[in-house]
Amino acid sequence: MLIRDATLLLDFAPGGAVLRGSVRIERGRIEAVGALEPTAGETVIEAAGRLLTPGLVCGHTHLYSALARGMPFLDPEPPRNFIETLQKIWWRLDRALDDEAVEISARVGMMDALRWGTVGLVDHHASPAAIDGSLGRIADAAEAIGVRVSTCYEVSDRDGEAVRDAGLRENARFAAATAGSPWASAMIGAHASFTLSDASLDALAALCSTYGLGLHIHLAEGGDDREQTRARHGRALIEGLATRGLLGPKTLLAHAIDVTPDELEQIAAAGARVAHNPASNLNNRVGFRPAWAAPGTVLLGTDGIGADMLEAGRTAFFRGREAREDASPDAVRAMLAANAELLYSQLGLVGGRIAEGAAADLVLFDYDPPTPLTTENVGGHLLFGLSSAHVGQVFTGGVLRYDRGQYPGLDAPAEMARARDAADALWRRMAAGVTHG
Ligand SMILES: [Zn+2]
Repeated sequence: MLIRDATLLLDFAPGGAVLRGSVRIERGRIEAVGALEPTAGETVIEAAGRLLTPGLVCGHTHLYSALARGMPFLDPEPPRNFIETLQKIWWRLDRALDDEAVEISARVGMMDALRWGTVGLVDHHASPAAIDGSLGRIADAAEAIGVRVSTCYEVSDRDGEAVRDAGLRENARFAAATAGSPWASAMIGAHASFTLSDASLDALAALCSTYGLGLHIHLAEGGDDREQTRARHGRALIEGLATRGLLGPKTLLAHAIDVTPDELEQIAAAGARVAHNPASNLNNRVGFRPAWAAPGTVLLGTDGIGADMLEAGRTAFFRGREAREDASPDAVRAMLAANAELLYSQLGLVGGRIAEGAAADLVLFDYDPPTPLTTENVGGHLLFGLSSAHVGQVFTGGVLRYDRGQYPGLDAPAEMARARDAADALWRRMAAGVTHG
């Protein structure tokens, strides 16, 4: 297949060039980039100058949130702090997830991602009443919908030892099963320091070591994590991870808001990544950490509020501007590039760029800007012009997955109708306080 005569943004990373050219795709990868003419029998997509970019990647999300959109708030008293937000909203939702809700939320969450030009997701999963096989359901959805995913099961002590152990087993099973897949990769998942005993952290460290995988955990999403970790477990926040080898170059820490400059230095020195989730942080009123002020590698996530990464980038940028921090288009571009780097390296693929040999995960935007679009100013277009409303076609593995509202090979209206039924049933189980299984 040849995508002919496009405006190419070769890479979202700062400095990624804009140039005019064509892209040849063979066997799911980019075969050539440049001034190319079609060969006999080749499928040709005439881009006619439209913008072709690498597919976007979300650096931290919870796919099961796909069934939370518009859900009723059940408690007469609104949550007063972050832990009550978990207790009154998210832990009620995830306890009511059954096998079918896990599968459907993954499928429609991924379909929505494609609509936003997002081809990959770093997911963090919890379904305490439907743990066994849950990560396999997410991986199956990834392959069926055509979205790359990294996922993990959120180990926690909050539902007791049996549930904790089932979560550990699910991480182990998935880590063994998913090795070598181009669509799904594993991390070892954990909720947060304050819901994990020393013994649970030890078990997580053993899993990371056995499978050579990194920990994906929420860290300091507000001040409660530090205080509760000290009060419940007598541990310091970072040391509890670092002394067990859980703070390293494969580690992904979501949020990292309430951390000191020294702790940020320690995180950076360990080579760990931090996922910044600006919309979620604003929504939960947990504070603001200007991602680009942190040393080290910072990713950009949504924390389950969809997967529109251009919007996430704008939120990060504008919140940063308000704080009079050093917010810049390049800082947003660096986060988007870091997302792709993490996911594709886990999958053993080259990706997140338009280059020979890279995975053919691409977005063709219906973007016809009223000002010049160049290598020098593309950051301005990303923050002040280009949006998911311009997404025309999305390809993953060289296959057309999304085409102006249509999902070739999928019955999208039926998928969404099934999801609405599943959401309705899920909300009823939540209201009844009944868990499944
Ligand atoms: Zn999260």
